[in-house]
Amino acid sequence: MAQYGFYFDSARCTGCKTCVLACKDRHDLGVDRAYRQVYDYEGGSWTAGADGSFTQNVFMYHLSMACNHCTDPACVTNCPAGAMQKDEETGIVWTDHEVCIACGTCDSVCPYGAPVLDSEAGYMTKCDMCKDRVAEGKAPICVESCPLFALEFGLVEELAAAHPEAVGAIAPMPADSPTGPCVLIRKAPAAKDAGDVDGFVGNEPEIV
Ligand code: SF4
Ligand code: SF4
Ligand code: SF4
Repeated sequence: MAQYGFYFDSARCTGCKTCVLACKDRHDLGVDRAYRQVYDYEGGSWTAGADGSFTQNVFMYHLSMACNHCTDPACVTNCPAGAMQKDEETGIVWTDHEVCIACGTCDSVCPYGAPVLDSEAGYMTKCDMCKDRVAEGKAPICVESCPLFALEFGLVEELAAAHPEAVGAIAPMPADSPTGPCVLIRKAPAAKDAGDVDGFVGNEPEIV
């Protein structure tokens, strides 16, 4: 099975959130839903010296993340209705809205908070990797829209070959990745390891 995934360059990303808005526009999402999130991760402090100078170790960077179309997707394994599907040709994980019973199990077991409820329609939704565009040989709209070229899309093995320096996760992603997320990340100099607890998500109210 081929496996598509994302590459994200945290050294390039400015946190502009064009990727988020391009996705929301394409999928006609209201203010209460987003399939891609940009986390502003920040922290550090400063101390005043006796001579009146200050030293600091503050940091801040961004993480743009959607569903990671995992190789061992907990959402698929645990869905009691069989609504979460992993496509055998592409590895894309998508939601069959016809059979979803909106129980929220997928959301509760996903380590990345990817599934979101469409409360009006009564089913769970999430990033489907723009599979209609991918079927036409195009990249997902979030990747196409990034003005900083911080996102790439492709076969995971090809992304890994092109970016040998990439890591599998950075904060605020969890340290454990039991679901096998298909994302590669270039660590910005300021970026912290996955599981870091020294920083915090500074734009928490924006995350839906
Ligand atoms: S569009 Fe690009 S630069 Fe802007 S937030 Fe998204 S990934 Fe970062
Ligand atoms: S990121 Fe979450 S919703 Fe997406 S495939 Fe992995 S477990 Fe499922
Ligand atoms: S791949 Fe498509 S659905 Fe997924 S976050 Fe990007 S624009 Fe949204």
